[in-house]
Amino acid sequence: MTQATGTLYIVSAPSGAGKTSLVKALIDQLESLKVSVSHTTRSMRPGELDGVNYHFVSRDVFVEQIKQGDFLEHAEVFGNLYGTSQSAVEKTLAEGHDMILEIDWQGAQQVRHALPQARSIFILPPSREALRERLTNRGTDDYGVIDKRMSQARDEISHYVEYDFLVINDDFNTALDDLKSILRSHRLSQACQQDRYQGMLAALLSD
Ligand code: 5GP
Repeated sequence: MTQATGTLYIVSAPSGAGKTSLVKALIDQLESLKVSVSHTTRSMRPGELDGVNYHFVSRDVFVEQIKQGDFLEHAEVFGNLYGTSQSAVEKTLAEGHDMILEIDWQGAQQVRHALPQARSIFILPPSREALRERLTNRGTDDYGVIDKRMSQARDEISHYVEYDFLVINDDFNTALDDLKSILRSHRLSQACQQDRYQGMLAALLSD
């Protein structure tokens, strides 16, 4: 992968922790930040759009894309395949934008291996009770499915130690502020500021 100017952020969370809503609000409020649109073999849910929520493809197409080396990472999650397009990520970072990958822990491990400079954030619910309540209030799943999601959530959460940052989504706005702080503080780091203000720094050091 070519040297990039933007920063890559991995965001993972168990289902029901509020990850997608938080990332959407973050994209709306921070400039120069994009979210990667993954490829998946799962079927489209009501309200989802091809090319917006995901690129929905058949298993045959997905397997061919793996063979072609199209994915920066890919994994099977809940029986469906998901993957991140390497070229889309490269293009966005090369344009100088930061990029968020909303992916599971398996994909996060692959991205860290390929791009050790990527920063990773894990979003946690404040309690198992709160998570169950959120999954129940969504009204999309019956009790059997919710029990399954609760056990999958424990598996996902067990990987929190692999992440650079932990954000607790108890209060939505506090969690959003925490996410903004993570991205903003990195943008203020010496390396990023040097990149951004090359001309100004050179002028400040001139005679
Ligand atoms: P959902 O089907 O509910 O949108 O997502 C199910 C899970 O797949 C979530 O944990 C989500 O983060 C993960 N996921 C979505 N896109 C990708 C991807 O491109 N790669 C990987 N590894 N996981 C993904």
